[in-house]
Amino acid sequence: MALWHEVSTLSCPINKAERRGLGLDAAISRRDFLNGALITAGAAVTAPSAGRESTDDFTGYGGVGDYARANGDTWPVIQSAHRLRDGGYGEAALQAAAPAGQFDLVVVGGGIAGLSAARRFRQALGSKARVLVLENHAMVGGEARQNEFEVDGVRLFGPQGSNDFAVPAADGSSLVARFFDEFALPREYEWQSWDPALKPLRFARDNYSNMDGFQEPQVDVGYFFDELAGAGAEKWRRNIWNTALSDAPYSAAARRDLLRWRNEHGVVSDAQSRYLDTLTYRDYLEKVRGFDPAVTRMVEPIVGLLAGVSTDAACARLGRALVEDPDRPMALSFPGGNSPFPRAILRDLLPAALPGKGFDSLMYAPVNFAALDLDHEPTRVRLNATVLRLRHVGADAKRVEVTYERGGNLFKVDADRVIMASGGWINKHLLVDMPDDLRTAYSQFGYAPALIVNVALRQWRFLYDLGVTACRWFDGADGFGYCCNIRQTMVTGRHSPPLHPDKPAVLTFYMGMSVPGLPPAAQGMACRARLLSTPYADFELRIRRQMIRLFGDLGFKPDRDIAAIVLNRWGHARLIEPPGFHYGVGGKPSPLERVRAGYGRIAIGHSELNGAQHWGSALEYGIKAGEQAANMA
Ligand SMILES: Cc1cc2nc3c(=O)[nH]c(=O)nc-3n(C[C@H](O)[C@H](O)[C@H](O)COP(=O)(O)OP(=O)(O)OC[C@H]3O[C@@H](n4cnc5c(N)ncnc54)[C@H](O)[C@@H]3O)c2cc1C
Repeated sequence: MALWHEVSTLSCPINKAERRGLGLDAAISRRDFLNGALITAGAAVTAPSAGRESTDDFTGYGGVGDYARANGDTWPVIQSAHRLRDGGYGEAALQAAAPAGQFDLVVVGGGIAGLSAARRFRQALGSKARVLVLENHAMVGGEARQNEFEVDGVRLFGPQGSNDFAVPAADGSSLVARFFDEFALPREYEWQSWDPALKPLRFARDNYSNMDGFQEPQVDVGYFFDELAGAGAEKWRRNIWNTALSDAPYSAAARRDLLRWRNEHGVVSDAQSRYLDTLTYRDYLEKVRGFDPAVTRMVEPIVGLLAGVSTDAACARLGRALVEDPDRPMALSFPGGNSPFPRAILRDLLPAALPGKGFDSLMYAPVNFAALDLDHEPTRVRLNATVLRLRHVGADAKRVEVTYERGGNLFKVDADRVIMASGGWINKHLLVDMPDDLRTAYSQFGYAPALIVNVALRQWRFLYDLGVTACRWFDGADGFGYCCNIRQTMVTGRHSPPLHPDKPAVLTFYMGMSVPGLPPAAQGMACRARLLSTPYADFELRIRRQMIRLFGDLGFKPDRDIAAIVLNRWGHARLIEPPGFHYGVGGKPSPLERVRAGYGRIAIGHSELNGAQHWGSALEYGIKAGEQAANMA
């Protein structure tokens, strides 16, 4: 069977009839910048058309609002990062960078970790400390950014990446709980209401709960089984786990083992976790537990998203973490995913940058970009600034020279201390004077991509009629993705979109791109190459074809129903953790430990240092790095 990364949709010609059928001639937001022209078959991504800053043939339509030019890894950001990797900035140009000031602290990266590092440093040294945050995107937040749409007069939000959160206990016992207290974040929310005159339908309040189907007691999931072929055969099944897979097309052995797998939840002890870290998840499922390969097939794309690589490359510790208590409370998401968390820290650092008080304005107030980087403010956030090089300077190497590119020009600032709140994929290239043992540790870090797509729909009656709000499918060939859903959105005074099958909503696709059979790092590279060399138009075509395949018989009409498509590409979404990475092998410590220590005047703090990345680990490692920098003599 062909794998996603081997198949080029555009190698299949598209004729006029299919163009019309896919709605490619309809006027929708995503083609404002493409002039309706699909890129030719098999074409590599070309430079964006002149004069179109970030709405280029690669980045595509970015929605509306403050995040419209910062959807995932955009073309300008990737271009400067790859130029750096390929040695495109010559030594003479770096040397000639224009001086741009002195700071007590420079933070590289404006995600949750970078902003919380800056905040912690400022708490320790006082608000007069001169702090500069350099962020290469056009918006802060890192992976916790959002997409916004305006469809038929309705404002809609969707996550770009970081999305789920759990409400922490109100006992101040964890960093996350204290964060909620400090920023007065509510712990109870209102959700869109469902008209009782409509048939009952259950929604997830996030975009993950539906993936493994474990939360069918709380959400209605439809499963598309292509193998249920034959004229007029119904390929959809609803809530298969709720009926113990009785009407799903599995053999008796597969059904028995899928149910055994699903029921093996429970807390994993530290000793079990260490054991699970020594083998791949596939070996655990098939050799240790002896499960039918249907179990592996069921989890493959979920592991591919959450661990970045396939079950035969990811350690069983990560895979096993998927199987939690099916009766757990559903995770939640804010309308724009985890974007309120970095916005809260930004507001604390620079109140004028996010005017207003309270939760409503925290989520929806437009950013005052003019207030981010003011000469007279001790704390500054500089966007569209890609850091290119850091090195210790001075006779006693007590200062750090930080060189960055902005608007095509090179600048350098002089810093007393630096926090790298960016990931290892770029830090490897930036930290030119790092010690050999740190370089060796970083050389063991590999990364895998992810793609998150938000499709703004004018209506979604095709799902309503099917009686589901989330879907799962199983085709590995040239299909697109494996799941999608419509959330029940959190509402506040300022934002209360309707929840109705005839009204606009966002359909969200989360997907990884793992390649079973390849070694872990090679999977990451192969899939990243594919992710980054696929034009927006190619993805658009795949998405439309997939939606027709799934929903065409249910009344879905792409030209009528799709209002906009936004891609959020994350080239280095996940730190790959093959067996042995997390705890180390043969008595040797994990490379994570060495990286956490930093060196010289440089502290390192990013969510990846936790192993399993999430917003809480971004907070944790940002705060630790802030403390480490503050304690440097
Ligand atoms: C697709 C996806 C889904 C996720 N889902 C969830 C979820 O549901 N729940 C959850 O809790 N977590 C989730 N996460 C995990 C996520 O990693 C954390 O939640 C958190 O947002 C990471 O914050 P961070 O500050 O550590 O890193 P990042 O958000 O990566 O921030 C680093 C910043 O540094 C910038 N940067 C990099 N290089 C440079 C340079 N050279 N110069 C200047 N700036 C630079 C980057 O652009 C970025 O803005 C998800 C992640 C991804 C990718």
